[in-house]
Amino acid sequence: MKTREEYIESLKKLDLQVYLLGEKVDDPTGHPVIVPSLNSVAMTYELAQLPEYEDLMTATSNLTGEKINRFTHLHQSTDDLLKKVKMQRLLGQKTASCFQRCVGMDAANAVYSTTYECDKAHGTSYFENFKKYWERIQKEDLVVDGAMTDPKGDRGLSPSQQEDPDMYLRVVERRADGIVVRGSKAHQTGIVNSHEVIVMPTVAMRPEDKDYAVAFSLPADAPGIFMIYGRQSCDTRKLEPNADIDLGNKNFGGHEALMIFEDVFVPNERIFLNGETDFAGMLVERFASYHRQSYGGCKVGVGDVLIGATALAADYNGVPKASHIKDKLIEMNHLNESLYSCGIACSCEGCQMEAGNYYVDALLANVCKQNITRLPYEITRLAEDIAGGLMVTMPSQQDYDNEKLKPYIDKYLKGIADVSTEDRMRVLRLIENITLGTAAVGYRTESMHGAGSPQAQRVMIGRQANMEHKKELAKTIAGVKKKK
Ligand code: SF4
Ligand code: FE
Repeated sequence: MKTREEYIESLKKLDLQVYLLGEKVDDPTGHPVIVPSLNSVAMTYELAQLPEYEDLMTATSNLTGEKINRFTHLHQSTDDLLKKVKMQRLLGQKTASCFQRCVGMDAANAVYSTTYECDKAHGTSYFENFKKYWERIQKEDLVVDGAMTDPKGDRGLSPSQQEDPDMYLRVVERRADGIVVRGSKAHQTGIVNSHEVIVMPTVAMRPEDKDYAVAFSLPADAPGIFMIYGRQSCDTRKLEPNADIDLGNKNFGGHEALMIFEDVFVPNERIFLNGETDFAGMLVERFASYHRQSYGGCKVGVGDVLIGATALAADYNGVPKASHIKDKLIEMNHLNESLYSCGIACSCEGCQMEAGNYYVDALLANVCKQNITRLPYEITRLAEDIAGGLMVTMPSQQDYDNEKLKPYIDKYLKGIADVSTEDRMRVLRLIENITLGTAAVGYRTESMHGAGSPQAQRVMIGRQANMEHKKELAKTIAGVKKKK
């Protein structure tokens, strides 16, 4: 397994084509806007080296029998699924942000089981392709992004009906040695910190969408790939000198980017689906369910930090004993643990797939994510309620560093006697960061739309809820007579 330093060194060797604020970035690993997100991924390497986290952070590979980072593991039991969620909560607690590495893990587990079943139905050899590929990922301990979301253009039209045929990523040329693809993937979490990317379709497909039913892997710096780094609210604070109080969380963050594939060649051995439209929907559904489980860990960990910061804000305001404050903090914990319960439940109820790896309970994973689209918003509301308006009206660190202004800020923004004004400002800025600053991308809007928007989960819940069985239960209890 790689150390943090080896990970960053290996990233530096890539020739990533990244654009940020209109300019090409020479070294993404050294750019101040990007570095906090790099630190979050690096934490997945750091914690895996520590004996106290060995059980959560590492696993034994079913492919090689070697010890690997759990972020590259193909789950071999429901216990593995549980440990995955616990690991994600831990990482959320350590970074208070999106640590990005889960998408590759979720993509790998979905591709592994889907390619196995596709090969059985179509006589293809995608499973072998993927196994060989993933063995290398495990051995080299690489970060792999999972790219699913196409821009989708007119949502009322299928991929092949779009006015612009590139609105869904597609095969534009088939050669003896591989395929050439064109298109883009939106909201790509962590792509700038990744060595590799697994590309998957984003919707179930019909036979006429054949060119769009494609899955494959590529190095993140393959010729023809480039990325446009996503803007986050308050992101340019990271470019200001002496702004570490204002940042709220100066060391960690997440990122998303728009990823463009400009006629990129994919060799045959990296192809995992190529025209088998009947397996596109299965791949989408499995990846989505794994990632919906993931949120029952990562968002809960970030929630832990937010609840802690909110309790500190109450302490610093001198009101920790007020009954309504205590009750609101209890409510925040209740909501956060409710999310965790869903992540745990869909893991415990997981099952083995034909390929041998384990899959979550899809109904419970979708219930998990549906709750994630709601409860973090209520947790956020309560955090802002308790923190008070100062979290959005405080002077900047530059004001605080000004000799004339500092004594006034120290005097008038002080809370209880034995806590410094600076510490109070730091805690309020952390709450601002998570609720409406850079980390709100992950904690709020991504909770809504990441791993699929709310309606996508409702469709899945509707499909999985087995209404006929429930009707039969009711008929039996009510004594409804069977027709003769
Ligand atoms: Fe992992 Fe959560 Fe970020 Fe998704 S949103 S990559 S599950 S930390
Ligand atoms: Fe996500």
